[in-house]
Amino acid sequence: MNNVKLSDIKVLIDEESIQKRIKEIANELNTIYKEEEVCVICVLKGAVMFATDLVRNLTMPLTMEFIRLSSYGSSTVSSGKVNAVEIKLPDLNNKNVIIIEDIVDTGLTAKFLLDFIAANFHTKSTKFVTLLDKKISRKTDIEPDYYCFDIDDKFVVGYGLDYNDLFRNLRFIGYADKSLLG
Ligand code: 5GP
Repeated sequence: MNNVKLSDIKVLIDEESIQKRIKEIANELNTIYKEEEVCVICVLKGAVMFATDLVRNLTMPLTMEFIRLSSYGSSTVSSGKVNAVEIKLPDLNNKNVIIIEDIVDTGLTAKFLLDFIAANFHTKSTKFVTLLDKKISRKTDIEPDYYCFDIDDKFVVGYGLDYNDLFRNLRFIGYADKSLLG
């Protein structure tokens, strides 16, 4: 069921602001890691736009991995349970790891992932970078190391984020009125 049309979506954060903020975060990461190699882990599908734009602004040697988790299904409210749909990672022992997420909401996905990495590897460092931080919905004590934007209690779409798998291709981050969302 999809009753939300593109014309229902209002701009929350425009393309220029997203790209400007990504450059700021990338500069901070470039300053921290300098020439050190990092392994960037992109959490599919939502973080794909953010991750690809962020890495193009990073200057250190880096490798990219992609994993798939899900907690929302087709709902706009977290199920409270994280499913590891696909996690295949190389040996991350002694590596600098940067996890890239689209949004930290309850924090359950971030916690699941950080626990998974800690349980399986002794990394040199692990940092969590998210495009959006919805602090108001937090149900864990997880805080991202970096976030681009702090948002309030809206269900957002665009720039990788979906509603029923649609709207990921929007160049901006937008939202629709809650009354339209199933
Ligand atoms: P958490 O585990 O922190 O509750 O949720 C993380 C995941 O929920 C995100 O990776 C994202 O897929 C989904 N999510 C949370 N809030 C939103 C939102 O406002 N819009 C969309 N499209 N997905 C969201």
